[in-house]
Amino acid sequence: MESVQEHYTSMMSAIRRFAPYVDIERVDAAYHYAEEKHAAQKRKDGSPYIIHPLAVAEITAEIGLDTDAILGALLHDCIEDTDTSFDDVAKRFGQTVAELVEGVTKLTRVQYSTTEEQQMENLRKMFMAMSKDIRVILIKIADRLHNTRTMQYQTPAKQISKSMETMEIYAPLAHRLGMQKIKWELEDESLKYLKPAEYKEIMDYLDDHQAQANEFMRGVQSTITTRLSGVGIHGKIYGRIKHVYSIYRKMESQGKTINELYDLYAFRVIVDTIPDCYNVLGHVHDLFNLVPGRFKDYISTPKPNMYQSLHTTVIGKDGIPFEVQIRTWDMHQTAEYGVAAHWKYKQGVNQKGEEKSFEWIRRLLESQQDTDAEEYVHSLKVDMFDDEVFVFTPRGKVISLPRGSTPIDFAYAIHSAVGNSMVGAKIAGRIVKFDEHLKNGDIVEVLTSKTAKGPSRDWLKICKSNQARNKIKQWFKKECREDNIVHGRSSFEAELRRFNINPNVLNDADVRSAVLKKSCYDSIEDMYAAIGYGGVTAQKCVGRIKDELLKVLRPAKDKTPTGLNLKGPHTKNVSGVIVGGDIGSCMVKFSRCCTPVPGDDIVGFITKGYGVSIHRRDCVNAKGVSDPAQSDRWVNVIWANTESEPFSTTLEIDSTARQGLFIDIATILASLKLHVSEISARDLPDDRSLTLASFDVKNTEELERVCSRIRSLPGVTEVRRGRR
Ligand code: MN
Repeated sequence: MESVQEHYTSMMSAIRRFAPYVDIERVDAAYHYAEEKHAAQKRKDGSPYIIHPLAVAEITAEIGLDTDAILGALLHDCIEDTDTSFDDVAKRFGQTVAELVEGVTKLTRVQYSTTEEQQMENLRKMFMAMSKDIRVILIKIADRLHNTRTMQYQTPAKQISKSMETMEIYAPLAHRLGMQKIKWELEDESLKYLKPAEYKEIMDYLDDHQAQANEFMRGVQSTITTRLSGVGIHGKIYGRIKHVYSIYRKMESQGKTINELYDLYAFRVIVDTIPDCYNVLGHVHDLFNLVPGRFKDYISTPKPNMYQSLHTTVIGKDGIPFEVQIRTWDMHQTAEYGVAAHWKYKQGVNQKGEEKSFEWIRRLLESQQDTDAEEYVHSLKVDMFDDEVFVFTPRGKVISLPRGSTPIDFAYAIHSAVGNSMVGAKIAGRIVKFDEHLKNGDIVEVLTSKTAKGPSRDWLKICKSNQARNKIKQWFKKECREDNIVHGRSSFEAELRRFNINPNVLNDADVRSAVLKKSCYDSIEDMYAAIGYGGVTAQKCVGRIKDELLKVLRPAKDKTPTGLNLKGPHTKNVSGVIVGGDIGSCMVKFSRCCTPVPGDDIVGFITKGYGVSIHRRDCVNAKGVSDPAQSDRWVNVIWANTESEPFSTTLEIDSTARQGLFIDIATILASLKLHVSEISARDLPDDRSLTLASFDVKNTEELERVCSRIRSLPGVTEVRRGRR
């Protein structure tokens, strides 16, 4: 086990070698601070915890990051694992360092448990989106690299789950950021735990064939070296065996054993200038036979992760193929360390480090012609996810939504049924408003209820995604029929009035049937509903039936009340009211819209064929009473002072959503010995609920007694006469 001192020395020498511009004094201060903070902690292998931050800092130094990033690496576990505060770090080491540490902490806190590829892509994107500063990801990758290197101390279950994460998130991220060397190491270390047998098979083979391989590589190296020095090109040639994971992948994809796999070698020629690269290529093709179709020029068209090189595959001794990569030293630096190489260059030129926006990455990406579309899609995007937000379901599934999305968008992204039955939402266990904007990494939980009344029209203004908007509209179209009827009816009636047609004419059955014949709907409600959800305009509907309507209306006006058909087949003679005027005793029916009971101020409407329809004077359908044009159709009616059958009526009760309220209401009705025909309750947003109760009463006096008893129940805020 290496000591803390050894790790410290090793980090410092990495800084001197790879990051000579770093401020050693600040590094030292951060080291001592972190050591003190982690003093009580031990790693899984029993060594002092500080060894981990030291090793992570060493990796960040090796890839050439700046002082702030190395400080961030030293302090990266302080906020998460110790009592350290953001402010304290900011005060001692500056705002930037504190933000780096906080950024790494946020990524550490992201919980996920999924293996779907689409999900992984979202997770990788989320990592990018959450890390405003790319150094956060770089530190996080360095953190993972050290944890991967010391995986042997973890439990077998942890080894597998962590290795999967590494393979699915960190290695692709390293690739996207162009950090080839780290990507390889992450992949090989993970393979060791994920496919131990295969890993061992490959390692054993490579061990057994070490001597052969070295001989082959030396041969190629000396052939190329001799040629280059012969023509005066200064260059260095490296040979290597491809990394374990790439060999494993080749075996898998080609269905071959390692014995059958020849393509195990890769060579790298590093030269001073770009013209030299092309010269070397010519010489390599002259020395060996090339494999057609394998040449790639990533110098003239770099990969999106900034990688540049010439690639070719040729055939060597005994027909063994090998790849040659040719590049300059600058390109080599970028190929090994990717994005991180940027700090190396920058520190040589400019020590201010004021550049934060990573504009250069975008410029670089934009200036590239992408030859490889897929590669481009998987390319480096740091600030490019600004229009997206990534959140989790409670079970760890990642949902990607447009920025500014709300719990409503989230609910509909899961399923329209979830959205339609949503009554509330929680973020990280806390109840939030429906218009709360979701943030990256939020864990969102939708509260649903079977009795939810569905989306409200306001949701259309709150939601951000087209998906949610369309699903809400769909709902209004399909399920919110009652609402549509109300909305449709009011626009239809407004349109009628434009032609001086009183909407009340539709109360007349003959008028209705005439209208329906023309309008091709099965019922007036269907027509209203269609107008309500926007399937047809009110103008169009009225236009279609207007002439028919006027034709029916004219003769109706000429008729005297005595022309009423008092033998309407659907009318039941209900006693209890006296109809005024010269109509005398006739068929009456009590409208269902306002369920009048004795004691209510009532008025009668002379229908065609159904006798007189009784409304409460304050009913919305009795507004025509004061209309002079209709004076011949409205008649005064009064309650007959007789003991009659009870009348059915309905109450609407607003309350807080309280358990037991339903029972309390039913108990009151039962104790008053009232016949209850229906009672139902539904949940409303904001912990409210609405209860409907239909029952029979003798008169308003009795009804008022019921109302006042219900009003006195805890939680009840309003009791009003309702419609059935
Ligand atoms: Mn760590």
